[in-house]
Amino acid sequence: MTRNEIGNNCAECINNQNNREGHYGDEPGFCLLRQVLIPEPFWTTCQNFSDRHEPAPTQQQIQGPIYIDSGENPFRSVPVYDWNAYLSSLGYDPGPSQARAVLNMLDELIRSYGLQPEDTTDARGWRILTMEKTIARANVVQWEPGLYFLVIYAPIAELPLNDQRFGPLYRRLLEFNHNGSYGARFAIDERTVHVSLVRPVSQITISDLDANLRMVLTVARNLGDQVRQAVQELVKLDETGSATTQPAQDKE
Ligand code: SF4
Repeated sequence: MTRNEIGNNCAECINNQNNREGHYGDEPGFCLLRQVLIPEPFWTTCQNFSDRHEPAPTQQQIQGPIYIDSGENPFRSVPVYDWNAYLSSLGYDPGPSQARAVLNMLDELIRSYGLQPEDTTDARGWRILTMEKTIARANVVQWEPGLYFLVIYAPIAELPLNDQRFGPLYRRLLEFNHNGSYGARFAIDERTVHVSLVRPVSQITISDLDANLRMVLTVARNLGDQVRQAVQELVKLDETGSATTQPAQDKE
């Protein structure tokens, strides 16, 4: 199969984010349909090549693999079935590409909820979503070089400074983690109790993302009242009990 038989190249395809944003050229592109980096857009193509804006990339059915130039003379296109392996063979880290793909999916999901990503993204890139009064934040975080994770979390309660009596609460949170929080988990960061979900960015689909966001918001909404009530009970106990609440730095 030659390039002419399967259409034009990624540099000229409207599904290339660079082309869509008006900086047509030879620099590496990003295919919005397949959500992958395209290192050499003039020498890459596929059967989904399009020069029309409609339908939107996410409404198209992916057809066949991506083709690259074989480097032979005469010109010949060859299919690449494992694009991440191909990127790695060129020295590209597929991680940023996957991270970008997940962020693009997150923004598309936000649009599907009837919201605008720019209105729901804070200065650090966290997408902020609400379900009734529950707020969740979602983003892609690089925790170690080359390791990207989708992180979704919803803060549900603030703990007082004195945590000496909080053993029963911690036990309750661990029990929720075992049998009440589905794939999400309860966690404490400083003094805030969160429901959170963390997973590697590879192989996340938009329906996974939707399910993950709803899971965190639903668990935070359904169990948040119980956690807040448990915190309140412990605060009351602390106020009436023999031990007085001390600032954390005054302990010992
Ligand atoms: S891989 Fe296909 S759909 Fe994506 S930019 Fe290239 S030609 Fe267009």
